[in-house]
Amino acid sequence: MRQITVLSGGVGGATFLRGLLHGVRRGLLPGVETAAVVTVVANTADDIWLHGLKVCPDLDTVMYTLGDGIDLERGWGRRDETWQAKEELAAYGVEPTWFGLGDRDLATHLVRTQMLDAGYPLSEVTAALCRRWLSPVHGEGVRLLPMSDDRVETHVAVADPESPSGRRVVHFQEYWVRLHAEVPAEAVVVVGLDESSPGPGVIDAITDAELVIVPPSNPVVSVGTILGVPRVREAVRTTRAPVVGLSPIIGGTHVRGMAHQLLTSIGVEVSAGAVARHYGARSEAGVLDGWLVDTADEAEVAGVREAGIACAAVPLLMTSDPATAEMAVAAVSLVS
Ligand code: GDP
Ligand code: CA
Repeated sequence: MRQITVLSGGVGGATFLRGLLHGVRRGLLPGVETAAVVTVVANTADDIWLHGLKVCPDLDTVMYTLGDGIDLERGWGRRDETWQAKEELAAYGVEPTWFGLGDRDLATHLVRTQMLDAGYPLSEVTAALCRRWLSPVHGEGVRLLPMSDDRVETHVAVADPESPSGRRVVHFQEYWVRLHAEVPAEAVVVVGLDESSPGPGVIDAITDAELVIVPPSNPVVSVGTILGVPRVREAVRTTRAPVVGLSPIIGGTHVRGMAHQLLTSIGVEVSAGAVARHYGARSEAGVLDGWLVDTADEAEVAGVREAGIACAAVPLLMTSDPATAEMAVAAVSLVS
């Protein structure tokens, strides 16, 4: 295999990608060439305009993580970050104050916004940013593609007794960063998704791949939005490549993040097996050929197989690159 395509969100997807690349380049993945090209189709529905700047959290998390610029402890943002611009904005009383825009990170958003203003689509802007981050580390071996060049934004409905409708809709980032996903999500609305088009190269990356991986990213607001871009789900359903996923749910809960709240809001039980059935078997109009669950969820294997999806239980905690590479080895082995 020389072409692998991964449908990624932010921290979960990026952490998986690091381990995947660790395994690929060391020749650990059966049937995968060490020089294989890994194409990342990244979620852009988390994107937000702040202080006049276009911020793309999932693209940047993947870019900084694979480009060795990520703050590993936080999992997002730049290493050795400082926050003076944020403090100055707060001193002016400029809202919103809840989003962490670091000084180093700001340069990325400035460059991106200037290029967008000059008329470049997000895909070209992303390629330009990646020339700094990915090319020196990975050469031509990693491509990062936004799922769409169009503006798509996830919003979350939360209860608000003061509103006449009893509800208020907030941007996904406000739900996550300001509200810490502590109030129940009553609904998820992805504005602009139905009218969006796949970004350049996205459909080909799925159709021409020899392996498609659904990493342990959020099934609703990361992978769900990518699959929701018109023609993308169809491409995953019909590609000749096997499609294998890894559960983001271990022992009935997300490891970190907020998959729990959002699965509940779309009526999917929070379990490794239920997420697999939500994605569905390709033989039954779904998107998966194979699904890995954690060893803690061994009891779910039979139910996933009954749904027509190959399944195995292996350790799924991404504690180190070698541990994550082992997950990738198990994923490839399951479907080849
Ligand atoms: P985000 O965009 O930053 O929220 O990142 P993703 O959507 O790519 O991934 C978030 C999801 O990763 C979380 O909801 C967790 O369920 C999952 N996750 C985080 N760490 C681990 C881990 O070590 N193992 C597994 N299996 N899933 C994880
Ligand atoms: Ca995200």
